[in-house]
Amino acid sequence: MRKFVVFVCICFAMVTQAQNESNLLAFQKNVGGICKWDYDKKAAVVLTFDDWTPGQFPLVVPTLKQYKLVATFFPLTNNIEKTDLGWKSAQKTVENGNELGNHTLTHPDITKLPDEKLETEIEEPITLIEKKVPDNAVISFAYPYGAGAENPQSIEFLRSKGFVGARSVWGMSDYSYNFAKEDDDYYRIHTFGMNEGTKNTQFYEEIQSVIAGGGLLTFLYHSVDDDLNSYHDNWYAQVKLDSLKTQLRFLKTQTKDVWVTTFGNAILYHREASCAKLIENKSDIEKERHFVLYIKNENFKTLVPQTLVVPLSIIVIKTQDEGTYTSVTQNGKEIPIDKQTNSFIQFRAIPTLEKNNNPMEICLKKM
Ligand SMILES: [Zn+2]
Repeated sequence: MRKFVVFVCICFAMVTQAQNESNLLAFQKNVGGICKWDYDKKAAVVLTFDDWTPGQFPLVVPTLKQYKLVATFFPLTNNIEKTDLGWKSAQKTVENGNELGNHTLTHPDITKLPDEKLETEIEEPITLIEKKVPDNAVISFAYPYGAGAENPQSIEFLRSKGFVGARSVWGMSDYSYNFAKEDDDYYRIHTFGMNEGTKNTQFYEEIQSVIAGGGLLTFLYHSVDDDLNSYHDNWYAQVKLDSLKTQLRFLKTQTKDVWVTTFGNAILYHREASCAKLIENKSDIEKERHFVLYIKNENFKTLVPQTLVVPLSIIVIKTQDEGTYTSVTQNGKEIPIDKQTNSFIQFRAIPTLEKNNNPMEICLKKM
């Protein structure tokens, strides 16, 4: 019996390490690498809510909070201003960890707008949201009617305005991690549209597919109302609150494998992880290991300022008998250890945009 237990343990240790290696980007033997998604999850799921329909703030925002989940709202800023609570509701939404993206002022087909109108429809919501909700950077876009997602000029315009990605309203998701084969692909993210007729089994299957593929899945919701239609939210593709709750409860059971985050964070993480590099520097101090984490892609640097860079989950591989690390610091500041076993240590660090200019050095220390 004991022999069997030892054998099982060895196998388990080997499988765990092998899994980590295959899940890591820029993996280097005996050093480690960058996790494909935050917290080393297998896939990312983003819930998006369009148009700021009347049921979204009173029903969806508290429900997300109840399940400790976050989402991205793509409001028409004109709709926010028409409600009694106005911008207070938008501020509260962001305080709960959600994101506000840009869905224009009045919902036009942006491919049919003359240049000056295009500026107004896209520029004004950025200025308004950033003025009224300063903690929310407007870096995500959703095309009204999906128009523009296949148009190179629209994509170029969005990139020039600092958007890191954009969501369409249709298209089967590419469940694989390699969903952005070229930069434009970040601006034509497909989505699974939810409505009254969507079966919960379809919702579940989408999530299983993205877990298997390791990529990014977005869901698109519009109107949400309760059984009494208390908010008269019948604008488009209404989903009942009870159905939404069932879907969120299921999603919650999958969070061991799935990173549920905002659209902006998912895109930023994917962009960064795909072009970041982890380098181990020789340490002169015994019981310490030193690393530098930086972005090596020039295009990324012109698009994303350092203030928007999100932390990346890092796994450092330990050699046999390396022992236990008691702290991880980045630029002298302690950062939490997310996980540690005999074979690896996992934590989250922010990459720097410059390799040599004030590198963000990560230091592992033992007592
Ligand atoms: Zn819309």
